[in-house]
Amino acid sequence: MLIEGKCHCGNIAFELEWQGDPPEIPARACGCSFCVKHGGVWTSNRNSRLAVAVRDTALVSKYAFGTRTATFYVCSRCGAVPLVTGEIADHLYAVVNVNVFGNVDPSWIRRAAADFEAEDLESRLARRKRNWIADVRIVEGSG
Ligand SMILES: [Zn+2]
Repeated sequence: MLIEGKCHCGNIAFELEWQGDPPEIPARACGCSFCVKHGGVWTSNRNSRLAVAVRDTALVSKYAFGTRTATFYVCSRCGAVPLVTGEIADHLYAVVNVNVFGNVDPSWIRRAAADFEAEDLESRLARRKRNWIADVRIVEGSG
């Protein structure tokens, strides 16, 4: 199915192709300091395809911290955080926030806690490469 998600004001929107109808969506309530403060609950699927449309790039705050290997897309108008991207060996990967999904029944989402704080950088990047969405297209300034 095609999962639709967007920040509260719609400035950052995405479509995520996901197999299964209804799909089973594993979600990780991340325990890092940023995600705890924002309530970030993430999902990804190695075989899914993500298309992101950013209307006004001036209203997106790209935030990185810690290892600075992940970029949080924060809508500076409404404050929602619909996605995180990470570049590994010149390839763009992403995870999306299940809290911004629109057409998904909450019962399809399997929430679990996750804590990656103890991970070293190498295993962190290897895990992302394995699990994050690898087919990511971002169109910025789509009006
Ligand atoms: Zn917004």
